[in-house]
Amino acid sequence: MIQSSRRAVVFTGAGISTECGIPDFRSPGGFWTRYKPIEFNDYLASEEMRLEAWRRYFKIYEAVAQAAPGPSHKFIARLYHAGKVSHVITQNIDDLHRVSGVPEAAIIELHGNGSYVKCLSCGERYELEWARARILAESRPPYCSACAGIVKTATISFGQPMPEDEMARARAATFDADLFLAMGSSLQVFPAASFPVMAKSNRAKLVIINREPTGIDALADLVISGELGAVLSAAAERLWRH
Ligand code: NAD
Repeated sequence: MIQSSRRAVVFTGAGISTECGIPDFRSPGGFWTRYKPIEFNDYLASEEMRLEAWRRYFKIYEAVAQAAPGPSHKFIARLYHAGKVSHVITQNIDDLHRVSGVPEAAIIELHGNGSYVKCLSCGERYELEWARARILAESRPPYCSACAGIVKTATISFGQPMPEDEMARARAATFDADLFLAMGSSLQVFPAASFPVMAKSNRAKLVIINREPTGIDALADLVISGELGAVLSAAAERLWRH
């Protein structure tokens, strides 16, 4: 399917980064088996909740900051540079597709990027370390230096509106795709999980690669159950052995 495709879209979830030491959220031991996610409205509602959100975030981000792209990210970057892939749509916030060499213009981050912080009112951008230093110095959640608005990691929480530009770009890429490769996602988080459904209804071939069944396996042309690193290494061997 990859060989006969001209415009594939790769869609990735947390499962692509577990091999890089970043846990996913729903697997046994995953973050949400231990914590209930903090919803956007609760984040806005109180300083206590925001402090708790920052505390948890810095804990999660320790693994993200230390991670480097794994074989699966490298496989996707290679497919991109071979001219096979138009876009990588990701639910991940770990920035690893960019670090692996996929150009920023070809990456669509549906749930934002965890490596920086943004003011929710004026959009001013800050480094993560800026937020950490403010919290340490003031023992309260940080506010924007420009407009005093509430700041938050540049990620999308439950209940927070999806980024319109990214959604529009993802829709356009999906409608243009002749092959849609969904990897390492439980395909349970909507609207992100609607993209493979959209691709299929637009007559693209749909391939799902995941360690466990997903909610839309029945729709797929091909489902490969297994560890991404092993599956994609085998695919690389078949595609590029000559
Ligand atoms: P998820 O936790 O719901 O699903 C991940 C899926 O990947 C699971 O079905 C799991 O069985 C599978 N998986 C894990 N490791 C695998 C491997 N090595 N090979 C094959 N399959 C593997 O994650 P999701 O569907 O991406 O959605 C969760 C949300 O959490 C997303 O919104 C995402 O933004 C966020 N998140 C991001 C990161 C990150 O940036 N790396 C990490 C955790 C969660």
